[in-house]
Amino acid sequence: MNKAPDAIENLIKRLSKMPSVGSRSARRIALHLLSDKDMNLAPLEQALSYAKERVEPCDLCGNLDVRSPCSICTHAHKDKSKIALVQSVGDIWTMERTGFYDGHYHVLGGVLSALDGITPDKLRISSLLPRLEGVTEIIIALGATVDGQATAHYVAEQVRKINPEIKITRLAYGVPIGGEVEYLDDSTLATAMKSRNAF
Ligand SMILES: [Zn+2]
Repeated sequence: MNKAPDAIENLIKRLSKMPSVGSRSARRIALHLLSDKDMNLAPLEQALSYAKERVEPCDLCGNLDVRSPCSICTHAHKDKSKIALVQSVGDIWTMERTGFYDGHYHVLGGVLSALDGITPDKLRISSLLPRLEGVTEIIIALGATVDGQATAHYVAEQVRKINPEIKITRLAYGVPIGGEVEYLDDSTLATAMKSRNAF
């Protein structure tokens, strides 16, 4: 089989590096883009170059925005006394979409992992500590994984060293909405049982 010209192969290679895009999807996307360059490729090129020029991480929370501090950090109605600690910017988007949380955020940029060599200095932990003035609650909204929990403990320890008065909470673990008890795995059920609430 003949190889596609370099200009196309290069595009396919770039596309296949995107999350959740395999080489087959990359080929389909490339074909779609090139089938009508004015309609498909040009607007994408503009969007990419606009994003490259304008979008930057917020110096305070690590969110992505066209300004720093970002629109959440400067929002007049966000409660400055609460900071939710999240792993990635995507987590902020998810929490904002639900609209149930009115506080600030801090993006760690990952979780500690001995296996992957992610040490505390590789995460945005030190930039959290100067933000604690006036904060009364840190909400740990990290995943319920071993690494997520190790990270939660580490950050909680650092926060307590600076101000032991700050309340540190974490998202509840347990039965998902619409979930049947019969199908829960043992550790989820055990944790849900331990963290049961008054009804
Ligand atoms: Zn921000």
